Amino acid sequence: MTQTIESPPVPLKVNTLDNVGKNYKNLSNEDIVELCLNGSISMKDLDSLIHNPLQVVEVRRELLRTQCRSENISTSFYESLPYKDFDFSHVVGTCCENAIGYLTVPLGIAGPLIVDQKLTFLPIATTEGALVASISRGSKVINESGGVETFLMADSMTRAPCVKFPTLARAIDAKGWIESPEGKSAIAKEFSTISRFASFTDIRAFPVGELLYLRLSATTGDAMGMNMISLAAGKMLSVMKNAGFDDMITVTLSGNVCSDKKASAINWIEGRGKSVAAQARIPKDLVEKMLKTTPQALIELNTSKNLIGSAVSGAIGGFNAHASNIVSAIFLATGQDIAQNVESSSCITTMSLVENDLQISVTMPSIEVGTVGGGTNLQTQGSLLDLLDVRGPNPENPGQNAQKLAKIVAAAVLAGELSLCSALAAGDLVRSHLDLNRRK
Ligand code: NAP
Repeated sequence: MTQTIESPPVPLKVNTLDNVGKNYKNLSNEDIVELCLNGSISMKDLDSLIHNPLQVVEVRRELLRTQCRSENISTSFYESLPYKDFDFSHVVGTCCENAIGYLTVPLGIAGPLIVDQKLTFLPIATTEGALVASISRGSKVINESGGVETFLMADSMTRAPCVKFPTLARAIDAKGWIESPEGKSAIAKEFSTISRFASFTDIRAFPVGELLYLRLSATTGDAMGMNMISLAAGKMLSVMKNAGFDDMITVTLSGNVCSDKKASAINWIEGRGKSVAAQARIPKDLVEKMLKTTPQALIELNTSKNLIGSAVSGAIGGFNAHASNIVSAIFLATGQDIAQNVESSSCITTMSLVENDLQISVTMPSIEVGTVGGGTNLQTQGSLLDLLDVRGPNPENPGQNAQKLAKIVAAAVLAGELSLCSALAAGDLVRSHLDLNRRK
């Protein structure tokens, strides 16, 4: 019997970190995908290994498509999600990890609205038909009446670390010191090391048992300020340790008394970001002619719905008809942190009769916006900040661009409130939504 000797198996050519010599420049996208699939590279490291942001996006798309196929998951994103004509260098390391493209959201122009005597075109990113039309209708009536007047009442971003002491007595000691002129001045001194634009405004301490919540407030120029204030909060804790509170343990840098991206009474009462109010006076004949209702009917509607109805529901800051619609649409369009829509939409809408005219106001204590940093650096969002004449830092008065943006948001909310409340008072809300939401 003859014995056949099997030849040794030919090794498959597998790309690994060893045999590609870490020279990613010469590799094709397929090679890199293979390296990812065999575990040689992790998806999150692609940006630091391949210094071509668009190529990284292409690789991720290929990789995701391969993985989806093997799991029997739809790959329709591969055809539908755009990625070309986009500068991902502004995204990497600042706006989004693992980018595979960009989302398309319709962008409408509402208004123009006269805000503090200036004609302002409002960029509205939305998929809700009727929203742009509604804000535009409100704007038209307000413009005919002379425009909106806005007021900035306060400006400060907050961060509240939670620390722990051995006893309640020590937590109370720390509260006494940090809120004293000595404590405040020690913290204020640290701000010059954090940013050229951050400036201490206040500190409030809330003890609960051995825990102490330290709500630090600061102005942050034209930045929304979360990074700046978080850095400042860390410095504050070091200052406290050096001042004799070395028995203090840091539980968390953010203890939710801040309060970021959550509905809370503290923001509603104390404010966070920009606290803004806006008002317009609409002559009775314009209410009747253009809004097809009366000042009295609007006031009654506002009281029943936005004040009593919201009180019955136990609302926190939700004393309005749809402020969030306008806030989130402008936030998306202008590169704001969209999750801060939660507290930024806090609004009480009030209406009263003044010599038979309708006087309407919105009061919004926590509009968190910036014109530098985060998504404001992206090209399209930046161009819409240009449209509002608030792009980037204000060179003469740092902080004024962000404040102006907050005022525009409040003014646009006022236009939206006027229009929706009128539609409800006139009873034509459902008809107009069906007209503009449903394709015939
Ligand atoms: P940032 O981008 O971290 O800081 C602003 C930068 O712009 C600083 O380098 C500042 O200079 C510079 N700058 C130039 N001109 C300025 C001006 N006129 N006013 C203010 N700054 C000016 O911005 P940030 O607002 O503090 O942080 C925003 C980011 O925080 C967003 O991306 C958001 O998504 C993120 N965020 C963070 C947290 C968190 O917990 N850390 C939470 C929510 C959101 P200096 O170098 O002198 O400071």
